[in-house]
Amino acid sequence: MDVRRGLPDDYEMIDFDAGYARLPARFYARVAPTPVAQPTLLRVNGPLAELLGVDPDALASSEGVARLAGNRPFEGSDPIAAAYAGHQFGHFVPQLGDGRAILLGDVVGRDGVARELQLKGAGPTPFSRGGDGRAAIGPVLREYLVSEAMAALGIPTTRALAAVATGESVYREEALPGAVLARVATSHLRVGTFEYFAARRDHDAVAQLVEYALARHYPDAKDDVPALALLDRVITAQAELVARWLGVGFVHGVMNTDNCSIAGETIDYGPCAFLDAYDPKRVFSSIDRGGRYAFEQQPRLALWNLARLAEALLPLVTDDEQEAVRLATERLETFPARFEAAHAAVLRAKLGLLAPREGDLMLARALFDQLAAGRVDFTRFFRWLADAAEDDAEDARLLALFPAGSGFPAWLESWRARLRDEPTTAEMRASAMRRASPAFIPRNHRVEEMIEAAIRGDLAPFERLLEVLARPYDDQPEHDALAEPPGAEQWSYRTFCGT
Ligand code: AMP
Ligand code: MG
Repeated sequence: MDVRRGLPDDYEMIDFDAGYARLPARFYARVAPTPVAQPTLLRVNGPLAELLGVDPDALASSEGVARLAGNRPFEGSDPIAAAYAGHQFGHFVPQLGDGRAILLGDVVGRDGVARELQLKGAGPTPFSRGGDGRAAIGPVLREYLVSEAMAALGIPTTRALAAVATGESVYREEALPGAVLARVATSHLRVGTFEYFAARRDHDAVAQLVEYALARHYPDAKDDVPALALLDRVITAQAELVARWLGVGFVHGVMNTDNCSIAGETIDYGPCAFLDAYDPKRVFSSIDRGGRYAFEQQPRLALWNLARLAEALLPLVTDDEQEAVRLATERLETFPARFEAAHAAVLRAKLGLLAPREGDLMLARALFDQLAAGRVDFTRFFRWLADAAEDDAEDARLLALFPAGSGFPAWLESWRARLRDEPTTAEMRASAMRRASPAFIPRNHRVEEMIEAAIRGDLAPFERLLEVLARPYDDQPEHDALAEPPGAEQWSYRTFCGT
């Protein structure tokens, strides 16, 4: 049904501000989305639309779907594909850029925050490098679901405003239904954006990026040298982000510098996955053969990416190169302590330790050794630990997660002894622990099931997962099946890049 038939010609479905397109022409290519055969709606994110001040019904109408698919321009938008470079698996690629994403402009939400709206899978751009500029329905719904789950978990992330099917096939290993994701980020600035201009020795452009990023993301950053102010803030944002990932068992999978956000948001949900059984060395991505982006490597890799940002910024720090290196290194050296502090806070919350004590991190480390040795399900364990914090009748269930002869019973005793130092009641502690450890994460086997169903045209599993994952910290007994870990046959689960 077309609820907006007879729209006035000047009707603006979304009130766009010029954002990135205000920067000089060499920062991007002007390019419009390529129309598709037969756009149909997969989903509109009602609450996010409301936050952005956009009418969700208008977006869901045939007029809205035509715009989301790129078949009609959004009035007031100024579509561009951004230029960026990046280190991919350690190797520098001087030109990547938006090869299948088109940035429509800024939308200022009801919360006063400016966000960029991008259509991903909207057709080729000058940065497509032989790619088709398109996306298949699987990766689109996966990004929609996982990014919205991250948002509900309270972890900084890009968000999904809508997804539409194109009515066209995209050809990967097989023909798959095509789709376009409308994605929102406070910005799509990446470490790779800075690297692009630094590699071209375009210091003026890097300086403009610094100014743009500071004004947009860190307006209160204080440092006499703007480049150092920015570096400092991105270091903090990334340290906190990765600590939050580790707290929910998230493996990003492709932490290349072009996927490392200046705003500190989780971006580019390609081969990402959540741990089931705890394994610090776990890798899901089929292309990550060396385990570069394994679960426990993520803090180290974030720092590696930040070092690339620092290098790109060096010419702006001071003319004395050695001094510039010294100042940037000084900032980079703060990363481990910032990460450790953020990670310690995450771990304490998961263990119900509200009043920090020396030895807490040793206690956490001892637990992780047990979880790894027993291949214990990460999410389930911490949720059940919260139950045990309230009532030791729940211990039996927890103990049963570990193999016979494990050191876990001894650990449980030392944890209980430590809890005696805590000022809170058992009830308060358990409820705080449940806010730090979700009952529901996007389980890999459920995400795969959802995608298989969507390819067959059945969106019910997608809708159900979205609904449950919107409240990940709440027990939802009627959806317990979605909290279940996969069977052992899923332990070799692999993901593939969403291209
Ligand atoms: P990603 O691995 O998704 O971060 O993408 C890395 C680079 O490849 C970016 O420049 C993307 O725009 C580009 N890219 C990925 N998939 C496609 C595609 N299907 N068509 C064109 N460019 C693509
Ligand atoms: Mg990317």
